[in-house]
Amino acid sequence: MAKRIDGKKISAAMLETVAAEVTELKKEGIEPTLAVILVGEDPASQVYVRNKQRACEQVGIRSVSHILPADTTQQTLLALIDTLNRDKSVNGILCQLPLPKHLDEEQVLLAISPEKDVDAFHPVNVGRITIGNADLLPCTPAGVMEMLRYENIPVAGKHCVVLGRSNIVGKPMALLLLAANGTVTVCHSKTENIAAYTRTADILVTAVGKQNFVTADMVKPGAVVIDVSINRNAEGKLCGDADFDAVSEVASCITPVPGGVGPMTIAMLMKNTVSAARAQSKK
Ligand code: NAP
Repeated sequence: MAKRIDGKKISAAMLETVAAEVTELKKEGIEPTLAVILVGEDPASQVYVRNKQRACEQVGIRSVSHILPADTTQQTLLALIDTLNRDKSVNGILCQLPLPKHLDEEQVLLAISPEKDVDAFHPVNVGRITIGNADLLPCTPAGVMEMLRYENIPVAGKHCVVLGRSNIVGKPMALLLLAANGTVTVCHSKTENIAAYTRTADILVTAVGKQNFVTADMVKPGAVVIDVSINRNAEGKLCGDADFDAVSEVASCITPVPGGVGPMTIAMLMKNTVSAARAQSKK
């Protein structure tokens, strides 16, 4: 039976470390500050923003919210980002995605100063991640790496298979595993015979967004299964991509949904905000 990797416990340990760093920074007269922008009233986005604000409170980071109406223009949003870029008291800027359809998401992400880009979505930070010298790491994939480290799961020399190639999860996940000397295969919707790849994975990271996509027969006995996805089943309950009970019979370790990767993402955001505050204080 696979060990359940407890994302709540690991993220709580991380948040304690971050809180201690915040205390140190405050002694130096630096108050780490995260500006959060939410456009519109998407209920899921409202929940995510609230959770991020709560985490800020927990570790002592000051959070400043900018809640804008759904019909906000691109110009207004860019003007706000410009103000926050210039505001020396703001260390991190997060614009909650997705944005309403009429707004140009790519242009918005480009407008955030790379040094305040705590989601690490700006092409400059993506480039740094690719080269391997990034200060700000993409929160979800970096959270996964933190889990593997915490659980003493070696990556070097292992076959790591990533399901999904989005800019937010799949691609940066593959880059971080590669940087840790994993041998990485990325699968996507055009991959033929996915099971042939997954069955050879020592570490299988799934971020497809489809319930029961990963079945027990797709998993190598003893593999580590990291389930990034957040889906809803027919009863409306949260679930990941893996057929959890059946895959647990085959894998050596598995992350549950909820309570797995999700809490790690927020903890990494807090860590990035503190890193940004520290880096900016040295300028
Ligand atoms: P996304 O942009 O929709 O990407 C999904 C990926 O899955 C795409 O690369 C797609 O391939 C691939 N895919 C879709 N159907 C497939 C199939 N039948 N076979 C193989 N690959 C297939 O989603 P995302 O933003 O990466 O998020 C993925 C999941 O993670 C979602 O459930 C999301 O809610 C969750 N998530 C969780 C966290 C967290 O904190 N835990 C953070 C972010 C996202 P193509 O590229 O070919 O279309």
